[in-house]
Amino acid sequence: MSRLDSLLEAALARIERAGQRRALRATALAPGGRVLREGRELVDFSSNDYLGLAGHPLLVARAREWTARYGAGSGASRLVTGTSDAHLELEAKIAAFKRTEAALIFASGWQANATIIPALLAAMPGVAVFADRLIHASMHAGLAMAGVRQHRFRHNDLDHLEVLLAEKGTAAPARLILTESVFSMDGDRADLSRLAALAERYDAALFVDEAHATGVLGPGGRGLIAEVEGKIDLVMGTFSKALGGFGAYVAGSRVLIDYLVNAASGFIFSTAPPPAVLGAIDAALDLVPGMEAERVHLAALGERLRAGLGALGFDHGASSTQIVPAVIGPERDALALSVRLEAAGFLAAAIRPPTVPAGTSRLRLVLRASHTEADVDGLLAAIKAAR
Ligand SMILES: *Cc1c(COP(=O)(O)O)cnc(C)c1O
Repeated sequence: MSRLDSLLEAALARIERAGQRRALRATALAPGGRVLREGRELVDFSSNDYLGLAGHPLLVARAREWTARYGAGSGASRLVTGTSDAHLELEAKIAAFKRTEAALIFASGWQANATIIPALLAAMPGVAVFADRLIHASMHAGLAMAGVRQHRFRHNDLDHLEVLLAEKGTAAPARLILTESVFSMDGDRADLSRLAALAERYDAALFVDEAHATGVLGPGGRGLIAEVEGKIDLVMGTFSKALGGFGAYVAGSRVLIDYLVNAASGFIFSTAPPPAVLGAIDAALDLVPGMEAERVHLAALGERLRAGLGALGFDHGASSTQIVPAVIGPERDALALSVRLEAAGFLAAAIRPPTVPAGTSRLRLVLRASHTEADVDGLLAAIKAAR
């Protein structure tokens, strides 16, 4: 075994001993809120295809059509030859959807967050950064890349944020607040109105990650920033969750987008997203505003699932969306329950540290518009039998 492989084997053994070793399992999305895994059909409570768009015929058709028209690849990064009419038209469509002056497409949400944040911080010397404790790993990656220490506020505790802004923010030349609008592992919402008011009072820029709100919440699925239109400096989101495709967007002022084109390494040094991806996004943006019935259904399923979990004695935190945690606590117990549910025909992934804080391992239950009430009741009965 090579020197490298033996070191890696030792590192894997440490992960294994901590009970945190993970492995890949082939899974395919199937219609009706199902997935196929190892030859079995499971009711899927784990994927982020909230609106069922990943397999929608219009997305598939447009991905094919744009591939036939423009080719399989985009040829280069955006600043070289990778910018097509399709990119520019789609960016205008995204800006119209989010009601901002401009928008920019990134290859992924991770890439966007990890590289936009250092770009912003480079233009804000001496900045004081304030981040919700539960922001996504990609935003932490951006902060780490920039080498900037953040002041973390307790999750969704805006009193705590205000104390930190007053104590640590006022002496700094600039301030930046980072949050998600819907938190990925808890399914709860940030109070964007109050965040916007705090940002205004303390002259802070506000960065909101709408990965889990885009398509699902707000009028026409425009996300929660619709509540505070015009008061958020930077909003990003992904096309990979409710929009059923792949890639991410950043939306904000024209100056912001012009700056990111010149400064975000994940945009500059990465090949432009290809036509198939753009076609799927374009189709999703045509469909999402009209999917109000699906959004209403998802909200009702969320209520039903939370009521059922509550009756079984599970803590579902402050969830008020299509993401509903059933907090178990110890990793081992969360994993064991997930395994028993899979045997019973339900995919309900256990989420454990480091993705969530120690002692809060959970089933992260995710609703899809194609689920029926009977699917939710079936899951609850299986949880009751398996716990
Ligand atoms: C999924 C997710 C991302 C990353 O987006 P990808 O397009 O999957 O890379 C970023 N932020 C949040 C909150 C997410 O849940």
